[in-house]
Amino acid sequence: MELVKVGVPVQELKWSRWFRCGKYVIEKVSRTDWPDVEYIRPVPESGHIFYDFADLGRKRGSRKAEKTYIVQWLLNLDTSKNDEILDFVNHFGLLGLLQHYYGEIAAVTLEGNTPLHFAHKPGGFLLINAQQVADLYLISLEDFLDNERRQKAFASEPLIVFKKEVEEFQKVGELVHRIYKAAFGSYWPLRGWFSASGMKEFAETADNEKLLAEARKRLSESINRKIQYMRWMFAPGDGGGWSEHTGFDSLISMVYYLLAKDVESSFWFGRCERCNDFFLSSVGSQRHCTRQCEDAARKARKRKTVKAVQKAIV
Ligand SMILES: [Zn+2]
Repeated sequence: MELVKVGVPVQELKWSRWFRCGKYVIEKVSRTDWPDVEYIRPVPESGHIFYDFADLGRKRGSRKAEKTYIVQWLLNLDTSKNDEILDFVNHFGLLGLLQHYYGEIAAVTLEGNTPLHFAHKPGGFLLINAQQVADLYLISLEDFLDNERRQKAFASEPLIVFKKEVEEFQKVGELVHRIYKAAFGSYWPLRGWFSASGMKEFAETADNEKLLAEARKRLSESINRKIQYMRWMFAPGDGGGWSEHTGFDSLISMVYYLLAKDVESSFWFGRCERCNDFFLSSVGSQRHCTRQCEDAARKARKRKTVKAVQKAIV
């Protein structure tokens, strides 16, 4: 009997999967005429796979997310620790910054001239030096210009750019956290956020309603900017039903999409009272990121009580 595959879309949606190498390393690359740059580099001999972007949402339960859920993981990633960065990329692959920043590339040759390269930008094009960009991400010009080949071309990402992108994401997560606090009547964290973002006067003078409205607007802008190349496809599904599929230019784009879904749902972005890590949960009474932190906090409370009792006896 022949096996029939069900539930697979008739045509596969472009960018519905992500590339991940078996292993990555962080190393400095020296070139003539370039300053030394530290990179996160794939190890091609370690093998590679393509996984479905849709798999990334599975670590997100209906009431709380697992610590290994990509949104939570990235929010808590300590960018000052290279081993933490490697642990992340070994699980999920690189952020896909080359694709994310430059989109699909079109070459235009004016008669008698060297080709010019245009990178897609919403509402227009960006004129780039394609050779220089390819050099920066350590791939060949041919791989960079071929939109199909580029994804699996074993590109590397400059460590400093990777960190900047993660820190920007964490700042957005912090904004979600403070918006949630404001919704429960605590507006000072949100004022602090605006103050730290160069809007001191607004932070000090805006009334609560205006403050929250501006924060919500900024959050949606930050997210929309990151998912501008999202693709969506409608397809026949199992059992006579229908299904939808989404595609993303990069891993970072997918992570922002998931964050938006978390914000939209009843999830709130709490911070652990013991270790300050983010946790995602719809349980309003949750105070700690994990069972371990909860147990440790309980033990600490108990020790404190015992000490107080001993003191009272003595
Ligand atoms: Zn904790």
